[in-house]
Amino acid sequence: MQNKKVIKTFYFNFKMSGFIDGHCHLSASEFDQDFEEVIQRAKEVGVDGIVAVTEFKEDFDKVLALSEEHPGFVFPCLGLHPVQVDKVNGQRAACLKDLEGVCDVITKNVNKLVAVGEIGLDFTPWYCKTKEQRDEQRQVFVQQIQLAKQLDLPVNVHSRSAGRPTVNILKEQGATKVLLHAFDGKPSVAMLGVECGFYFSVPPSIIRSDQKQRLVSKIPLENLLLETDAPALGPEKEGRNEPSNISISCEWVAKIKNVTTDEVRRQTRINALKLFPKLTQFLKP
Ligand SMILES: [Zn+2]
Repeated sequence: MQNKKVIKTFYFNFKMSGFIDGHCHLSASEFDQDFEEVIQRAKEVGVDGIVAVTEFKEDFDKVLALSEEHPGFVFPCLGLHPVQVDKVNGQRAACLKDLEGVCDVITKNVNKLVAVGEIGLDFTPWYCKTKEQRDEQRQVFVQQIQLAKQLDLPVNVHSRSAGRPTVNILKEQGATKVLLHAFDGKPSVAMLGVECGFYFSVPPSIIRSDQKQRLVSKIPLENLLLETDAPALGPEKEGRNEPSNISISCEWVAKIKNVTTDEVRRQTRINALKLFPKLTQFLKP
């Protein structure tokens, strides 16, 4: 009896202090075969909440279903990613036609959502070749920022080869509750976001990215979250990333900031709960 009580108390404390993965693609087909094992491994390293984003309309139902199957652990976001995929042409910039119906689905599910995302800008020349394509991608982004503002939801934001335009649009549109995930811009541009109170999340790929290490050295710990972006941005370039690797992000932030991993986990958790207040229904700082 006594033992049982001890175990219970330990578990309770543990739930109070675990990692929050601020940006993850749990609906990716890479997790179809062993989803429950992936979740189990994440829980074993101390993850007690995962913010799950979408890229395509086709993901929406799956992310909502996963969050219903794991209440208080999988927290859903819905949004249209700046890179979309065609069966014939492969990856391409998002256009306004892709956005059809998206805002209605987000609005309908507002009570279930912790943020709008993954939205943003991706000006990688391979996907986004022309000025027209960049302008249309901007419009797709702006419409979703405005919707998030109307619905009083934060935004979970992608930017690639578009750090400055992404920060500028967020400022122009008056977005205040912002997570810039795996930001690939310069530290000086990131600091413009920090001035607006934006948060930046750090994936396990920091282990092999000088740019991310430099970014973390500049951004205050009070503006950082941990993320995995799993199945992408793992510690190794090849191979599947998964949420249990969040401990790698934590270790590297701790090393760069010269603080303990406990401190990084504690502060990034406080930051995540500030940015995503709906998580506090289940998780305490
Ligand atoms: Zn992502």
